Amino acid sequence: MPRSRTLALLLLCAALVGLSGLASYRVAQRLGVAELQATGLHRLDLYAASLEREIGKYAFLPGTLSLEQGVLELLARPSDAEAVARVNTYLERLNERAGTLSIYVMDTQGRVAAASNWRRPDSFVGEDLSFRPYFRDAMAVGNGRFFGIGTTRGDPGYYLAATLAGDQEILGVAVVKVSLEQLEKSWSTVEAPVLVADENGVVILSAVAGWKFTTLRALDDKTRAAFDHTQQYNRRALQPLGLRDIEDFGHGARLVRIAADGPATVSVYPVSGRFLAQSRPLPGTPWTLTVLSQLEQVDSLAQSRAALAAIGAACLCMLGVIVAERRRHLRHRLAAREALQKAHDELERKVEERTLDLSAANQQLQDEVAERIRAERTLRAAQDELVQAGKLAVIGQLSTGIAHELNQPLAALRTLSANAGRFLERGDTATARGNLERIAELADRMGRITGQLRNFARRSRGQSEPVRLCQAVDNALSLLEARIGRSGAVIERSCPADEPVALCDANRLEQVLVNLIGNALDAMADQVQPRIELRWECADGVVRLHVRDQGPGLSDDARARLFEPFFTTKPAGEGLGLGLVISAGIIRDFGGSLHGANHPDGGAVFTLELPLAPCHD
Ligand code: ADP
Repeated sequence: MPRSRTLALLLLCAALVGLSGLASYRVAQRLGVAELQATGLHRLDLYAASLEREIGKYAFLPGTLSLEQGVLELLARPSDAEAVARVNTYLERLNERAGTLSIYVMDTQGRVAAASNWRRPDSFVGEDLSFRPYFRDAMAVGNGRFFGIGTTRGDPGYYLAATLAGDQEILGVAVVKVSLEQLEKSWSTVEAPVLVADENGVVILSAVAGWKFTTLRALDDKTRAAFDHTQQYNRRALQPLGLRDIEDFGHGARLVRIAADGPATVSVYPVSGRFLAQSRPLPGTPWTLTVLSQLEQVDSLAQSRAALAAIGAACLCMLGVIVAERRRHLRHRLAAREALQKAHDELERKVEERTLDLSAANQQLQDEVAERIRAERTLRAAQDELVQAGKLAVIGQLSTGIAHELNQPLAALRTLSANAGRFLERGDTATARGNLERIAELADRMGRITGQLRNFARRSRGQSEPVRLCQAVDNALSLLEARIGRSGAVIERSCPADEPVALCDANRLEQVLVNLIGNALDAMADQVQPRIELRWECADGVVRLHVRDQGPGLSDDARARLFEPFFTTKPAGEGLGLGLVISAGIIRDFGGSLHGANHPDGGAVFTLELPLAPCHD
């Protein structure tokens, strides 16, 4: 696979894995948040109901004080010490019974006329609390509610105020301060932290103690100055909680982050990190109840689901890659097999073609060989014919000499036989016997001549046999004896002590020798003292016979065409131009060779070379 394709595939797989991880993270988170939201809403309702119930328990209490005659009398005559003491005791007992923090009665000027805590040194009997908003609200609209920190002891509490009216006019205001500590304590056991912020965004109730009296939003200087005046938070520092909105989901739900300033977990709650904040206003108060559900679990669940989805996608990708790789491998194998099959078919086709070519070539070769054999046979037949023709030509040439040679003994025979008869008649038997012996010698000689002629003329049997070479030369010279005698030629010859022997046909060899010696005699025909040298040489398993004459030698043209059939320089009727051709053919048949050259000292030298049975110089 090319590298770029692998890279692209890897990138695609990585993108798929990443996308599926991200998508399942988002989906799982959405689902988790939706679930948290449903639970949070339920909790909101629950906490709001418990707060309303807690406050509602005391809501009627301030108003009921107007039913107490003593209270009304005191407000009518605030300087009456006895009335003050009576109402103080009454309020003290009522406070104990109701389980509230304090109960007190104020006149229309905001001065405390009687209070349940009259016995304590820091009792606020006689104090002017007209600056408290609950007093002003009650004076204005008949009742007031206020969460604040006590100015005297600094205890936070919920103030419930209601006007106390006589028959026609308002005489004062009754205030019940309720502690919500119990409620907070009950909240601290629930699963998600809950807080109540007042209209200023200050946390007044919280399951997490550290969040109390922190602010959810930044306070401007004007608001802070107003706090100083009403001493609502009794000059507490009011640090920001560090809550930051991330995303608004609508319907009072939003994603927030609380900075991890202090410990990450307080009591059972995580107090920093990402939260789903769900708020709702509390009816009858300017407060807002907020439930914070931590998103950590949702996040980790979403993360594990994302990881699972990514692993699944990675597995799918791997499966896909394996399947694709396998298919690619199969495709390659198929292609390779096809290519192999193709190559195989091609090879077979070529082999078939070559076989056809080869058989055609073979056939052609066979035809050629047959043709050669035919030609060779024809040639051989022609050669045989030529040999025979050559022989006949030699016989023709010799016939005159032979006739002369035979005529002489015949004449001598006639004379000797006639004389022998006459000597016998005279009774001279000794002379007659001498004549008869001479006659027998002459008959032998004539028989030898005719025998040699017969031998020469008869067709060769073609069988090789050991031939004594000096003997063969002698036989050839005998055949030419008359011619040699007529020419007056001197024959110089010697035979090695150990006569060389070669495997050949004696008759045919003699024919060659007759031809060579005859040519030498022809070449020296016009010389007064012709001389022929027959020299033997043995070396390296071959024997050479040099036939040298004293003639004019070979011209360039003759040297080049010596062994050409019918090449002759002799006059018509004398030379056929076949002698050397036939001779060379015969010697070649014996496994030897025949060469012609000029001797440096003049004359021609013909060298006949034959393979040798042992040769000694
Ligand atoms: P022919 O004798 O019938 O001419 P050969 O084949 O024997 O045919 O000889 C061919 C020719 O070679 C001769 O005609 C002659 O010219 C030349 N030749 C052969 N032997 C000799 C020699 N000893 N000296 C000079 N020429 C020769």
